[in-house]
Order: sequence, then structure tokens, then C-alpha cells
Amino acid sequence: MNREFDEKLAQTHTDDLLSMAADIRDHYWGRKVTYSRKVFVPLTNMCRDTCGYCTFVKHPSDPAARIMTPEQVLAQAQKGARQGCKELLFSLGEKPELRYEAAKKSLAWLGYERMTDYLVDMCALVLEETPLLPHVNAGTLSEEEIDQLKPVSASMGMMLETVSRRLGREGMPHHACPDKTPTQRLRTLERTGAKNVPFTTGLLIGIGETWEERIEALHAINAAHRKHRHIQEVIIQNFQRKPDIAMALHPEPPLEDMLRTIAAARIILDPEISLQAPPNLHQRHIAYLEAGINDWGGISPVTIDFINPQHEWPEIRTLAESCASAGFDLVERLTVYPRFIEERSAYLDSGLTRRIRSMAGQDGLARDQILEAAE
Ligand code: SF4
Repeated sequence: MNREFDEKLAQTHTDDLLSMAADIRDHYWGRKVTYSRKVFVPLTNMCRDTCGYCTFVKHPSDPAARIMTPEQVLAQAQKGARQGCKELLFSLGEKPELRYEAAKKSLAWLGYERMTDYLVDMCALVLEETPLLPHVNAGTLSEEEIDQLKPVSASMGMMLETVSRRLGREGMPHHACPDKTPTQRLRTLERTGAKNVPFTTGLLIGIGETWEERIEALHAINAAHRKHRHIQEVIIQNFQRKPDIAMALHPEPPLEDMLRTIAAARIILDPEISLQAPPNLHQRHIAYLEAGINDWGGISPVTIDFINPQHEWPEIRTLAESCASAGFDLVERLTVYPRFIEERSAYLDSGLTRRIRSMAGQDGLARDQILEAAE
């Protein structure tokens, strides 16, 4: 892709852009749209960053700040397993122990010095005590951390969000957020690729980035993928305004902007990369299908979306009906996509291969398809 192509893309009429993207999706992914039935475990809501749009993070002085104990992790995991979940998503703030004494003390009380070490043990606990597959969303990772996490997690993820350095300036959403410098995040994309980790990443839309910066971010993801073929999915997520954030007055991106960005992503990215947009962050999410998505991401029958707690997940059966009306079948996948399972390649840790393969059907999607809501 070149500059001329990018300029043409920006000028293409929305209907044509959507139609090009939908054709690519239909050709590669067909009319199946997937989701992952998962349980969310917010291991800690403390973080050394302070992104202007984040409602998940809690300062250690906040009574709601916490690190979940192993008992709490297990209780949540077992609840998810009882409801037919197959994936457990660990989401957590970035290395709070490096910034806050209180976080360091809470971690020490649990017997750990580094959050990553605790996360590794919690993944192992989940694997030992439940049938779930852990997926970890722990932000930027060093090579050593990836090596520690790979044997205990089926897949990993980190939103690239943006490649805009501008957004790190004073008054901007990533100001004073050491883990949000694009160089750090691109390094994690590269490192996980070199270590063959099935990886999820994505863009956060509407936080002040320009169209050109979005396109640049998509090319950066694609370049990492072309080198390592490890990007299993890209999420296009829309910024949500909330009363308790620094960006409380910042406008949310309009639907057309989301649709154009999703379509551009489908056109730019290698077609084998799954394209996802969350169904709970826009009432008219079904329109995303017209822009080329093939996946809705994680939907939980047992836990809320801790990142956007005011937005409920759709009922899985209701979503299936909406998809059917739009001409798509909703099917359940695992946290690892079929391409990584089929190849029996280095992307799966040998200790997890048997479990993952036993949970997959012939098509690499979830063997036991569940469309029911929680009991
Ligand atoms: S968005 Fe992530 S990195 Fe930023 S403050 Fe929230 S938890 Fe931390």
C-alpha cells in the first residue's frame, strides 16, 4: 500500500468503501460471524498510567482499588465455567507496583514482587482448577514476561490504540502514560510476533487521532503481521464518554466514522486477520457487519464489561437473531482462532495444545456451541 492508495481510500464514498470491505470479508470469512463466550477477571484495577478516557483505573487511595485474591479469581472462573464459558480474560492495569507503594504492598501481601509473576500463577491456577483457556491482556510486555506467560495462556492481547505521538503531549489523553508511547506498544507487537504468540490488538477511535494516524496504525499492525503472521484479530473500538473521566466532554465518534474506519481496516489488513468491533458500545452495532467485521469479540454471560461498565452485553441469543436477520450465522469460537489450531504450529505452547484442540471442533471453532444466556 502506498500514499496514493491511502489518499484514494480517504476520498472513497462511504457506500463504496463498505461494499469493498464486505466483499473481502465475504470472500475470506464467509457469512459466519463469531464471538467468544468468556468470563472477565479484572486482576487489578490499579495502573501506573492515567489515560484520559479510562474509567477502569482506580488510584490506590480509592477504596475501590484492589488486586483480586486467588480465591476471588477462582470463584469468578468457576462461575464462568458453570455458564459454559471457554475463555477467561485477565485484564489489568499496567505495572502499578512500579509507581505506587500501596500497590507494591498489596502485591507483597499476596507474596509477589511483580504483577506479572502473580498473573502467571493465576493463569496456572485457572488451568489447573477449571476447563477455561486464559487470555491475558496485560499491556506492554518484555521478552521475559512473554516467555513466562506463553505456557499458561492460550493467547495474549494489547490494544495498540494509536501511533500518534501527539496524543502524549500535555493536555492530551496519553500524557504521562509511559506505556502508551507508540514505540513501547509497537515493540510489544514485534516481541509477541517473534515469540509466536496468537495476538489481539486494535485501535481506539475518537480520542483525538486524525484519519491519517489511524491508517498509519493499521499499516503498522499489518507490517508486524506480515513479518510474523501472529495477529489473530484487530479490534476497532469506539471511544465512550463517561462522566468520571478527564475526557467527559470529548465527543464520541459518529457511526459513519466507525464504519469507515472498520472498512478501511478490512481493506488494509491481511484478510486472514479477524476484524472485530464490540457489540455493546453502539446501539446500531449490526451496521458493523456491512463494514466488513467477522467477529464480535468476547461476550460474557456472567460478568460486566469492566472497561465500559455502563454498557451491557447483548443477550447472545438476541445477537444471534439480529445476525440472522442480517444474513449471518453467529457461531462461538475459542480464544485462539482456527488458523492457529489447524497448523499445529509453534503458536500454541506444547503444554496447552491438547486442551485447546480438545475444545475445538473440526472447523477449529468451539466444539460445544452455546447460544443460551446465563441461567
Ligand atoms: S486504559 Fe489501560 S493503561 Fe490506560 S489507565 Fe486505563 S488501565 Fe491503565
